[in-house]
Amino acid sequence: MEICIYAAALFTIAVFFLIGIRIVSRKLSVSSVTPEPAAASGKRIPCILCGSVLAKGEKLYSKETIREKDSIIHMYGCPHCHGDRSTEKKICPVCRKPMSSDEYLIGRMWLKKNGRKHLHMSGCVRCAGKI
Ligand SMILES: [Zn+2]
Ligand SMILES: [Zn+2]
Repeated sequence: MEICIYAAALFTIAVFFLIGIRIVSRKLSVSSVTPEPAAASGKRIPCILCGSVLAKGEKLYSKETIREKDSIIHMYGCPHCHGDRSTEKKICPVCRKPMSSDEYLIGRMWLKKNGRKHLHMSGCVRCAGKI
């Protein structure tokens, strides 16, 4: 009987652990993007503003302001959601609100200890505040 209870407790712990991991990974996928390894491996990454998968040669429009320890990124979107010929609507991945064509996402990029660039998107002008 004791073994049975022990097994049940272990199972519960495992389930909680899995749920915890899932919540954490979902949060991460919304708020942080690391485009460098994906781009390097040739994997197509979708635009975080409209979800369009970028074709070869299509680039995300962004502006980088380099600071002492990191840089501020203003992400405007891809050719599908930004510019005169855009057809898709921009949606903020953080607050899920539609954004106007001239609005951008605000993010911060820094070098991690392993030498990789890490990009953290905070949200749109309305939910992350202007930087
Ligand atoms: Zn886009
Ligand atoms: Zn937002």
